[in-house]
Amino acid sequence: MSDSDSNDNNRPATESVAAYQQATLAIRSGYQRSHEAEHSEAMFLTSSYVFDNAELAAKHFSNELQGNVYSRYTNPTVRAFEERLAAMEGAEQAVATSSGMAATLSVVMSLLQSGDHILCSKDVFGSTRVMLNNYIVKFGVQVSYVSLTDLDAWQQGIQPNTKMLFCETPSNPMSEIADLEALAALSKKARALFVVDNCFCTPALQKPLQWGADIVVHSATKYLDGQGRCLGGAVVGSSELMEKVVGFLRAAGPTMSPFNAWVFLKGLETLRIRMQAHSANAAELASWLQNHPKVTKVFYAGLEGHPGHSLAKKQQSDFGGVVSFAVVGGREQAWTVINNTRMLSLTANLGDTKTTIVHPATTTHGRLSDEERQQAGIGENLIRIAVGLEDIIDIKNDLQLGLDAI
Ligand SMILES: *Cc1c(COP(=O)(O)O)cnc(C)c1O
Repeated sequence: MSDSDSNDNNRPATESVAAYQQATLAIRSGYQRSHEAEHSEAMFLTSSYVFDNAELAAKHFSNELQGNVYSRYTNPTVRAFEERLAAMEGAEQAVATSSGMAATLSVVMSLLQSGDHILCSKDVFGSTRVMLNNYIVKFGVQVSYVSLTDLDAWQQGIQPNTKMLFCETPSNPMSEIADLEALAALSKKARALFVVDNCFCTPALQKPLQWGADIVVHSATKYLDGQGRCLGGAVVGSSELMEKVVGFLRAAGPTMSPFNAWVFLKGLETLRIRMQAHSANAAELASWLQNHPKVTKVFYAGLEGHPGHSLAKKQQSDFGGVVSFAVVGGREQAWTVINNTRMLSLTANLGDTKTTIVHPATTTHGRLSDEERQQAGIGENLIRIAVGLEDIIDIKNDLQLGLDAI
């Protein structure tokens, strides 16, 4: 490659991608390559980095010079993923983690201390509850739970030592919608941080920071990858907050592998069109299920009768890929439906091109007590579908095989 001194026909370099629109940001921001001319982003599979001399090594280690030292601290491929995700969420900074749970762990460990209180929505991801209830409390942090949609309960749940509000919207598996703007206002008044798990929508459909959230956490394992290949996560927010999260990650080590970062980078490029396609398939499936004689109720915020519909319409650009529904009968009938499908994958994962089907009461939400499940509305007759990108007619036909068997 000739440089600009020897060839003045070179095209000017892009100075900043900040002015680009959404789809472009997902493809062009955080672009990293090695010193070669590869078009796809480079994958830096290395644990450490070399220096030309001892002086340079010393300057890098003392932070006098910025650069890569060790991949627990920084890695160019991981950084590219972070820059791209931050651009898509409209955030100052993103920090990649080894999984979605590592993202939430890093937020709690770096920003809270003994004596603080977390107010959390009841129907967060199961491992989030286990982590908070069994481990985080051991360090003197208190946790209590409120219904995602009950603003009075949130308000009453705030204590003098509440330092963090945490929610997940839309919720799993009932597709309940939190009022992000209202919860952000409550947090601000309480001088607490507002953290949103944006796994179900991704920045393609919802940007919680725009509604006043301080921090977004992601399980990149789901839609950001989109094809069920890798575990990963991310924390997104202001540079001031992210600096603290980075401090914890560097010391404690739940960082993202460069290979996974490379997979997620490529996933982000197609995220928008995938989320649109997931949403379109899910909307069609939800309205088909709503008119099905073996189905008693469908839970999808895209349906007009859903209690969260107007809120979802306000804060999301589409309704996402997860649809739950109740069938006539109980557990036996729900299992019959699942066991008589042939194509749908029986797995608790979601955010995949392949449509997945699961019985929440005995899998993803099996650890809840009967009472907790009842409160959350998760009946024995409930089935959750994470709608993939197959032709919708094939998804319907397969589900019809299951429903016919009841
Ligand atoms: C899967 C998931 C997580 C945890 O992510 P991992 O990558 O599995 O650690 C957190 N929140 C939500 C909403 C999830 O679906």
